[in-house]
Amino acid sequence: MKDLELAHQKLKENKRFFSKLSNKERKTLDHYAHDAHTKVSNDFDCLTCANCCKTTGPLFTKADIDRLAKVFSMSSAVFITTYLRLDEDGDYVLQSTPCPFLQADNKCLVYDERPKACREFPHTDRKNFYQIRNLTLKNTLMCPIAFRVLEQVKINMQS
Ligand code: SF4
Ligand code: SF4
Repeated sequence: MKDLELAHQKLKENKRFFSKLSNKERKTLDHYAHDAHTKVSNDFDCLTCANCCKTTGPLFTKADIDRLAKVFSMSSAVFITTYLRLDEDGDYVLQSTPCPFLQADNKCLVYDERPKACREFPHTDRKNFYQIRNLTLKNTLMCPIAFRVLEQVKINMQS
């Protein structure tokens, strides 16, 4: 995957980009990031990728668990023992990856009811984007959209 190879090569440059932003630039970052997010997301077909579903998984909130348990007509307790485990921070995460709800055609079996974290990934349209810069740097290494958004932000802010 070309994007992800480039993301690894540009990791140091991208860290520098965030560390050199002035206070004024940090305040305008959301504007550039949200613009880039809209454009890049519209142009990229996640069904050709599904890397987030294959290599990592979302955190499941209580609301996510209750909603998804209903999809499978099981109790929330059974849903947890079937699919989830507690991580070191005490959050519910998948027992294994790829996500068990990812289908062979890269579609999500529970798309309409998917966890909030899946809906929001890769968070490049988030308010206060600067505050999640470390997460974004990490995400560029596995998510082409995150990588392309950051590339676009750099171009737009430097022009
Ligand atoms: S890793 Fe990023 S580009 Fe790939 S499917 Fe997930 S959100 Fe879409
Ligand atoms: S629930 Fe759906 S969108 Fe979320 S990781 Fe699993 S397959 Fe992907």
